[in-house]
Amino acid sequence: MREKVYCANCEHCQVVRVFEPDNTKYVLRVKCSKKRWAKRSGEEKQYKYFTVARRVQTNCPDYSPMGDPNPFIKNLRRELPVKDEIYTIKEAE
Ligand code: SF4
Repeated sequence: MREKVYCANCEHCQVVRVFEPDNTKYVLRVKCSKKRWAKRSGEEKQYKYFTVARRVQTNCPDYSPMGDPNPFIKNLRRELPVKDEIYTIKEAE
C-alpha cells in the first residue's frame, strides 16, 4: 500500500531563513535535509513556509515522523501564516 505522509511531520523538513541582499530582511522557506525535493534540473527546491502543510510524499524511504500527525497537521494549518511574510532584523540598541 502507498502511504501518504506529511513532510511537516518529518524530522528532515527544516525551516530556513533566506535573506534579502541587504541582510536586514528575510523570508522563511522549508527544505528537505535529505534533498528529496528537487527541480527538474536536479537543483534543490525550497518552498514557502506558509505552504508547508501541503508538502506530502508517497512512500518516502527517509520519512522520520516526529509524532502523531493528528492533530499536529490540523493545528499547523490553523497557525501558519496565510501568505509569504517578510521579517526584519532589528538592530541592537
Ligand atoms: S525525508 Fe521525505 S518525508 Fe521527510 S521531509 Fe524529506 S521528502 Fe518529506
